[in-house]
Amino acid sequence: MSRSLRELLDDGAGELGMILPPADADRLLLLMMELRKWNRKINLTAITTERGIIIKHLLDSLTVVSLLPQGARLLDLGSGGGFPCIPLALVRPDLKVTSVDATLKKIHFQRHAARSLGLDNFQALQVRGDTLTESHAGSFDVVISRGFASLPEFVALAQPLLVPGGTIIAMKGSSGADEAGEAATFLEQHGLVVREVVRLRLPASGDERSFVVMRANVG
Ligand code: SAH
Repeated sequence: MSRSLRELLDDGAGELGMILPPADADRLLLLMMELRKWNRKINLTAITTERGIIIKHLLDSLTVVSLLPQGARLLDLGSGGGFPCIPLALVRPDLKVTSVDATLKKIHFQRHAARSLGLDNFQALQVRGDTLTESHAGSFDVVISRGFASLPEFVALAQPLLVPGGTIIAMKGSSGADEAGEAATFLEQHGLVVREVVRLRLPASGDERSFVVMRANVG
């Protein structure tokens, strides 16, 4: 692995306020290589360069790390090639991570990646979000998604899966604040309050990102 890619990852994590243990950085780069290998055969991501994957998948996934409570049961809805769930499970072994996607080949990749990385706090399920309520109602402290659905669609799926007082995080491009504003009435009707809309720029690329953090309004 070239020094500059390792530096991109380490420096980028530093910009996000994290110091990556060398073993975690090694495994994140292994994930990047496995993603590229599998992506030649099955369509997992449109981002194919090493730098692109490091910035737009690995570092982007890690932007939410500080929002996740110790030991949280985390659900990633519509996780695709495993983002943000696999990098989060990797750097936070305290989390119990469940990943859901409707597409079997993507779940196959995620299981392969999790095995290769030695993740034992991660499971990937091939299921549609709307059928999860039967089996997993009230099971998660945090439900997250990136690039999945409109805010109201995501929230409608996520809310029944949360424990009382749980957190929903929608990872968005630059549109988080606008989407949160547009969905204000819907969120209120569903007993949710927007705790914060975090805006940031990705390391190296400077691309704008935002995430909407919502909490069930208990009592
Ligand atoms: N979170 C990933 C993938 C985003 S693409 C990333 O940011 O890179 C959206 C993913 O949601 C696709 O992989 C698609 O298969 C999945 N998906 C769409 N509707 C779904 C549903 N109802 N239930 C589960 N997965 C769904």
